[in-house]
Amino acid sequence: MKVFKFGGASLETIERIQHVGKILQAFPDDKILVVASAMGKTTNELEKVAQNYFMRKREIAAQLLFNIEQHHIQLAEQLLGTNEHPLFTQLQQFFTEVEWTLGEKPLRPYDYYYDQMVGMGELLSTAIVSAYFNHVGIRNTWVDVRDVFRTDDNFRDANIDWEVTQQQVTEKVLPLFDDTNIVIAQGFIGSTDQNESVTLGREGSDFSAAVFANLLNAESQTIWKDVEGLKNADPKLFPDTVNIPEIGYGEVIEMAFYGAQVIHPKTIKPLQNKQIPLYVKCFLDKDLPGTVIREEADNRKLPPLIVLKKNQVLITITARDFGFITEARISDIYEIFHANKIKINLTQNAAISFSACIDNNPEKIELLIKALHSGFKISYNEGLELLTVRHYTHSNGLVDSLTKGRKILLEQRSDSTIQIVMR
Ligand code: ASP
Ligand code: MG
Repeated sequence: MKVFKFGGASLETIERIQHVGKILQAFPDDKILVVASAMGKTTNELEKVAQNYFMRKREIAAQLLFNIEQHHIQLAEQLLGTNEHPLFTQLQQFFTEVEWTLGEKPLRPYDYYYDQMVGMGELLSTAIVSAYFNHVGIRNTWVDVRDVFRTDDNFRDANIDWEVTQQQVTEKVLPLFDDTNIVIAQGFIGSTDQNESVTLGREGSDFSAAVFANLLNAESQTIWKDVEGLKNADPKLFPDTVNIPEIGYGEVIEMAFYGAQVIHPKTIKPLQNKQIPLYVKCFLDKDLPGTVIREEADNRKLPPLIVLKKNQVLITITARDFGFITEARISDIYEIFHANKIKINLTQNAAISFSACIDNNPEKIELLIKALHSGFKISYNEGLELLTVRHYTHSNGLVDSLTKGRKILLEQRSDSTIQIVMR
């Protein structure tokens, strides 16, 4: 059993959907659980529907929803070459589900309504590709993952109930493979024991695939993307990136922790727990080597991994009485950051001051400063960048060239990682 995940970019156009079909046909002897995202930017558009509905701009919400519906219907008609097919009834059912919600007065919290609406993108995309693949002879079974993934009601960031989900995977999903080698499910969504739809957090489909891989004891998971594989830095920010052929689970978690937007960090644990390798491959050219993420990867061979976080603020906190920054005070300070939901990217403490590098979020920072004000004096620098280089010793002179001409405000290094706050 293999698990494949296709993201929104790989389902954006007819050609790309056909391409996904070719990839599936290249594995005729495998049982494959496919997890797919919503097409293109559908999730962002559905978010706008939810926002307008909640702001009581119901007409705008209905219009936006209508546009999404039309777009999907047209695409489905083009793929199937007809508008008479059970698929269209199925799509209509998904639209009706959301339209009903639009008709209700918003009495519950926003996150609840968000989840009842935004997950529709995955239902639409998977229903369409499943029908199309069957139409062209790529036999598959579609499954509504809301009948399989049981979660709590922490809307927009729901947590999997592993026990119930395992049972439902075994009872409802595994038998489907008796009929077809391919089963197609949605990423990103699940359902509570009250049958309310939930989402698992933005970009959550990688994680959904990992849940399936874990519960199906898959031999591997592959994330098919529109890039060659994982690179040692964001190619949009750095000209000379290199591909990473293999890397350990822990390194990927570290990179995500420092702010690299590689793979949803929650994805790794379900795979690591069962030692299931994760491949990142290019769906436009499946023969490119891509990247494999697994436990035994030899991290000594890694190139330096570069993560740059822009728009940083360095806050320096000094006690009003010029007292020492003791453990008790640091604990108070952390408490205040935590209460204001501010994640600290880097800290440094000295005798009478404590500095923290954080993302620049003006509303949050204003509240933070207010909360700190009674006990502490605050000064801060904006417009900074936080550079992290793991395995910086694997390349001579790299850090110098990355910081050339920059003003360095803070620097910390261990034998594996260097972090620099700079202007
Ligand atoms: N469609 C969802 C999103 O765009 C989930 C995903 O793509 O992973 O966030
Ligand atoms: Mg996506």
